[in-house]
Amino acid sequence: MSTLEVRNLVKQFHGASQSAVNDISFELGEAEILALVGPSGCGKTTTLRLIAGLERPDSGTIRLNHRIVASASVFIPPEQRGVGMVFQDYALFPHLTVYENVAFGLRGKKPAEIRTIVGEMLHMVGLLSFSKRYLHELSGGERQRVALARALAPRPVLVLMDEPFSSLDADLRANVREHVRGILKSMQATVVFVTHEQEEALYMGDRLAVLQKGHLEQIGSPEEIFHDSRTRFVAEFMGDSNFLPGKTVPGGIQTEIGLLQQPVDAPVSSPVEVALRADDVDFYPNGEGNSVIIERFFRGAYNLYRLRLDSGTILHAFSEHTKILPVGARVRTAISAEHPLSIFRDEG
Ligand code: ADP
Ligand code: MG
Repeated sequence: MSTLEVRNLVKQFHGASQSAVNDISFELGEAEILALVGPSGCGKTTTLRLIAGLERPDSGTIRLNHRIVASASVFIPPEQRGVGMVFQDYALFPHLTVYENVAFGLRGKKPAEIRTIVGEMLHMVGLLSFSKRYLHELSGGERQRVALARALAPRPVLVLMDEPFSSLDADLRANVREHVRGILKSMQATVVFVTHEQEEALYMGDRLAVLQKGHLEQIGSPEEIFHDSRTRFVAEFMGDSNFLPGKTVPGGIQTEIGLLQQPVDAPVSSPVEVALRADDVDFYPNGEGNSVIIERFFRGAYNLYRLRLDSGTILHAFSEHTKILPVGARVRTAISAEHPLSIFRDEG
């Protein structure tokens, strides 16, 4: 079933005090895009390089289409793995034309076949009329599409993409992202897509794998990761959560801003924290309320308020763009979420 299977992968660099990749396991199905996301230094690039065969694992197994490509006794070199790669810096050849760059990975095939494939690829990425141009005659987004066409041309088993859009301007990035996702889906490519941005991961991934310090914290659909974060780190990193302290009571959790009715897997009277996002919180003006407005950010389509509860806990809350209340106003804040919230029993 799975195109890529990674089992208990470990890699520690010489002289490092902890593993760059620490016992990572996951599987990837055919035509699936996995977004590997986490902060800088968490081991994303190392994981990709291990899969590509650019690094040897200390232990663990990697299978591509059921064939072991890395294990204690096997190491298949990168050029025999059938993996295509797209990097942040494109890694294209500046002295070659667009056409020649895409044809590069097809060396050894018959000239007529190469012409056909390169033509198809350039058509797919919308650059057919740019065939004869050199790279310095292209924009960043166009270069990224050349890099993609080059990686896809040999029809790799797996495509690995390492922060491929990070050198593009923010406004261009959203555009290229949409385009590239469309191309990958139309090719039914199986992809591991690395990014340090939660928004990009949610956009690109059919599933997300969240990494922290070489450790795989959670893997699942974007909705699962977002709504049912399994660790504090995932809740914070993926959803800009605030954490509201509470205590378990029969049938829920008592918090400073009311009772949250939700079953909890903990004995009564346990201290817990509820992960709350800005859309899980509501408030209205009330002189005897439980909190005060400390900041308001007008975001055009909505307002983002920062509220300080009487205990000192800070919460963020979204509200309509027309709801404008002054800083310093007393308000009554409550939990408005109509879905289960992530609950954490202790730190970490
Ligand atoms: P990411 O891509 O998530 O930013 P990396 O996989 O590049 O993270 O790095 C993970 C950790 O491994 C970091 O602490 C980094 O400094 C270290 N590291 C990466 N490559 C090497 C290397 N060639 N030699 C030594 N340490 C490395
Ligand atoms: Mg990296």
